[in-house]
Amino acid sequence: TAPSAPDIDRLVAGVRAGQRAVLARAITLAESKRADHQLAARALVQALLPDTGQALRVGITGAPGVGKSTTIDALGAYLTGQGHKVAVLAVDPSSARTGGSILGDKTRMAQLSADPHAFIRPSPSAGTLGGVAAKTRETMLICEAAGYDVILVETVGTGQSETTVADMTDFFLALMLPGAGDELQGIKKGLVELADMIAVNKADGDNLPRARTAAAEYRAALHILSPRSPNWQVPVVTYSAYTGDGLAALWAKVVEHRDTMTKTGELAARRRDQQVKWMWSMVEDRMRTRITSDPSLAAKLPRLEADVADGRLSPAVAVDRIFAALGW
Ligand code: GDP
Repeated sequence: TAPSAPDIDRLVAGVRAGQRAVLARAITLAESKRADHQLAARALVQALLPDTGQALRVGITGAPGVGKSTTIDALGAYLTGQGHKVAVLAVDPSSARTGGSILGDKTRMAQLSADPHAFIRPSPSAGTLGGVAAKTRETMLICEAAGYDVILVETVGTGQSETTVADMTDFFLALMLPGAGDELQGIKKGLVELADMIAVNKADGDNLPRARTAAAEYRAALHILSPRSPNWQVPVVTYSAYTGDGLAALWAKVVEHRDTMTKTGELAARRRDQQVKWMWSMVEDRMRTRITSDPSLAAKLPRLEADVADGRLSPAVAVDRIFAALGW
């Protein structure tokens, strides 16, 4: 049955009180595809909105094997040790296809999953990248209302999901391998233009010289790119998620960025822009859902698609017909 208004009030109160079980239930509601659940979730997030926004939102990307889960485990434990409450979320578009998320998996973060000051939630597994990300964004807000003051959003190293996660975070961290020959690749993919910091992991033992070389190459490459902000020189650091070397320095950079961007007003501007962008992305997503689930169009859409595919109908005329059928 649909959650009633008093149910939502109880969820709001429980989330505000930081009750983990209630937090998990609220997120499940936000992730649900059922229309009545989505309505309830909207009311929930709207009610919690005044309690959101205080967290430091950090996006973390990197190719599989770079050490994302090891890093988040170590960094998260470092942060809860400093008195922070850390939420780990994930945007994994592949989970929409396969139904199983490889990111944000608790078994990959042994320390954090046993930490009472940490909360780990795997990627929602239904819908388009836009839909998955929108749910993750709501989860982020719910976690903030529950008192989590650091939100780590993990994603895989694919262009579209990286841009999406950068659009919901204050700081975007790109993790790299020491000297795996992927240095210039990362730059080509445009990732480096998105990153607020590049961190070369596995700077330990025999890897140390290669990690330093890789860092020097990134630094050189960054010089020829225009910075994302005139007030922020993208740092390139090396660290080891294993030994913890460099992890505190890495986090100090994140805090420095937050302080600088707060002073210049860029943080507030970035969040304002993000919020409006999210509104439009949800408009697009909902319009698409409305169109593809319309009963009167159900029979016509495959025909229209085939006609467009075969070049019998121009896409623009097909759009006119779809909109006309809906009375738009
Ligand atoms: P993910 O796929 O990006 O989440 O990467 P994982 O965190 O699962 O790590 C991939 C592999 O790299 C694992 O075998 C880790 O043990 C190893 N690894 C992670 N961090 C470090 C590190 O700081 N130093 C070394 N030497 N190995 C690491």
